[in-house]
Amino acid sequence: MPFVSNQGLRWYEFDLFQGEKGLIHGVFTRQGGISPEPWDGLNMATSVGDSRDRVIENRRRILNAMGLQDRGFFDVWQVHGRDVLLAERPRMDGEGHQKADGMVTQQDHLALLMLFADCVPVILFDPVRNVVGMAHAGWQGTVKKVPAAAVEQMEHRFGSRPENLLAGIGPSICPGHYQVGSEVIEHVAQAFGDDSLLTNRQDGKGHLDLWEANRRTLLECGLSEYHIQVSGICTLENPVDWYSHRGEGGNTGRFGAVAAIRQGL
Ligand SMILES: [Zn+2]
Repeated sequence: MPFVSNQGLRWYEFDLFQGEKGLIHGVFTRQGGISPEPWDGLNMATSVGDSRDRVIENRRRILNAMGLQDRGFFDVWQVHGRDVLLAERPRMDGEGHQKADGMVTQQDHLALLMLFADCVPVILFDPVRNVVGMAHAGWQGTVKKVPAAAVEQMEHRFGSRPENLLAGIGPSICPGHYQVGSEVIEHVAQAFGDDSLLTNRQDGKGHLDLWEANRRTLLECGLSEYHIQVSGICTLENPVDWYSHRGEGGNTGRFGAVAAIRQGL
């Protein structure tokens, strides 16, 4: 059962992480929040025109649903880069966001939060060292290999070994719906050395497989293919559950991917 419902909210959990008592995680659908159209309803972003108060209430609902109501989120200003931050405490109300597209933590019950609407959420868990990481990979983060930067931070800061890591590649735009132009195609060819990630090539355009690209990056890092799960859920095809930047013409909200470590088991 990949979907879980609680208190009117509905979220996706990776089968790969079931039974991992040290990890709390979920990729939240848009159901159960209070935001009106075009952000209806569980919008996580204040940068898209929705009111701050509504986003705060939506965020509170996620913490409640996950049993993290006494804790806060660590979130960042996502800029399609490769920087990965160490999260040590929740971001306080009114405190500015640092720019980054990845984060890692070993802090007990500190909820990492990243925002998505077609870009790829990658959740990384080390059950040996009890470390969690997350990355945000649109096409830019994908060609910059931001998931690899998150793996590197887990290795350097916590002694994680790639072969122990589990990775979930979450709901995001599928290859069939993700047509890109020549500039993107060039970057993909440079980053991955061939163009097998691109299909339906014509007139300088092609369809990019973000899921396989990020899976390949994780394999290059040394993760086992048996330790990587691709959800295979397309955000553009499921507007009841997900926000889609492309599907909704840029006028939409952002859903939240959340992950926290449960220490001391
Ligand atoms: Zn699709």
